[in-house]
Order: sequence, then C-alpha cells, then structure tokens
Amino acid sequence: MPVLTVFIIAFSVILGLIIGSFLNVVAVRVPAGTSIVRESRCPRCDAAIKPWHNVPVLGWLMLRGRCASCGDPISPRYPIVEAITGVFFALVAWLILATSTAPLPATSVVLVAFLYFAAVSVVLTLIDLDTHRLPDAIVLPSYVVAGVLLAAACVLGAEWSRLLTAAIGMAILYAFYFVIRLIRPDGMGGGDVKLAGVVGIYLGWLGWGALAVGAFAAFVLGGIFGLALIAGRRAGRRTAIPFGPWMLAGAWVGVFMGQALGAWYVSLLGM
Ligand SMILES: [Zn+2]
Repeated sequence: MPVLTVFIIAFSVILGLIIGSFLNVVAVRVPAGTSIVRESRCPRCDAAIKPWHNVPVLGWLMLRGRCASCGDPISPRYPIVEAITGVFFALVAWLILATSTAPLPATSVVLVAFLYFAAVSVVLTLIDLDTHRLPDAIVLPSYVVAGVLLAAACVLGAEWSRLLTAAIGMAILYAFYFVIRLIRPDGMGGGDVKLAGVVGIYLGWLGWGALAVGAFAAFVLGGIFGLALIAGRRAGRRTAIPFGPWMLAGAWVGVFMGQALGAWYVSLLGM
C-alpha cells in the first residue's frame, strides 16, 4: 500500500473518533432542540466534563464509565459510537482510495463527501432508533453538501457523467420511496422519502450496480430484521420499525459491494 494511502487511512481513523464524539452530542441535542456547541455536562450532577475526559474512547475508559464528580454511570454507547465511526471512516477511506480513478485532488474531495455521508449515517441511525424520526435539520443540508462536494470533485477532474448518474440516482430513489409512501403511508415516513434522495446521490455517483444493490439491500436487511422480531415475538405485524437505519445499512452494502454484486448478477443473466 502506498505511504500516502496509509497516512490518509490513519488520519481518517483519528478524524472518525473525533467526529464520532461530536455525533454523540448531535444525536442527543438535535432531537431535544438544544445547542450543539454548548459544553458537555453530566446530566445528573451538572459538573462540566474535563477536556481530557472528552478524548474519544480513552476518556470513557479512564473514567471506567462513570462521572468523575458523582460516579453516575456513563452509557457505553458513547465510546462504542466513537469506535464504530473511527473504523467506518477507515473503511471508507480505504475503499475510495482503492477504487477511485480520478486525480488525487478530485479523489480527496470525493472522500470528504463519503466521510460526510458516513457521519450522517451514524447520527441518523442513532436518532431514528431513539425517536423514530429523521430530522430535516440533518437530512436537507445533506443534499447541498453532497451536491457541492461531488460537483467540486468533477471540476477537479472526476468524470462529469458521475454527477449525472448521481442526479438520476437521487430522482429514482426519491420517486421510489415516494410511491411506497403513497401505497403504505403507515409503513414509511416522510423523513424516509427525503433521506432516500440523499442515498440516491451517493449510490448513483458510484454507478447503477451500487444503486440497484443499495436500494434492494435496504429491504432485504429491514425484512430479515422485521421477521426476526416477529419470530421472537418482540413485534407484531403492525409494529412500526424505523426504516432509516436499514435504508442506510443497505446503502453502505451498495457502496462497498454494489459494483461487484451487480457484475455477478449480470453474468448470472448471461448478459
Ligand atoms: Zn455527575
């Protein structure tokens, strides 16, 4: 592996740990409507959290999962989200660097766009599981961020055709979820439809294989999970299961395996 690739992946891990720490804050404060820049305090004793205790993963380990002032337990969700975001960022960096054919400046901007999508995926998964909502405050700006970054990548040398397939991917997935919501308004939320357009941009950028696999995988994963819940009698046929996490998980299956699975499927059809 080239030295630059190793350096970018290592940098992405550290960036992911720090962003993961920020996402923990966003996931709690955006649904609650509180400021995301206010300092962190213990929810029980209101003691300000010291900077070195805010270091991702290590801070929680140093505190052994308890508040330094009152000893109240701090959820392991925080270090787990930080660690997952770090690993996620490393995998995304590795994938984009390994598969991009564009010049390095364009590839770097594409990487930033996909790291942004990874961060949004983590925080929307947390919020949807917690509150069954996908806040517009996070979903709608994502159209702008993805569009501007991917257009910038084209200016820097990525193929313009990718921006076109990204726009088509956005339109197709948005329309697809819009129709599902028309047919089954209780099964799909308006937030899901809006998020589908963002997912379509990223999958469309990577190509038709990624778009098809990513869209299909969401329903496979969501369906398996739903059936498992019903089989375990944890849910009835009409229990509302948040679909956002499955749409996002499916999207990442499409990002990582879409082109390979798409080529395999086409070969099965003998085309
Ligand atoms: Zn405390």
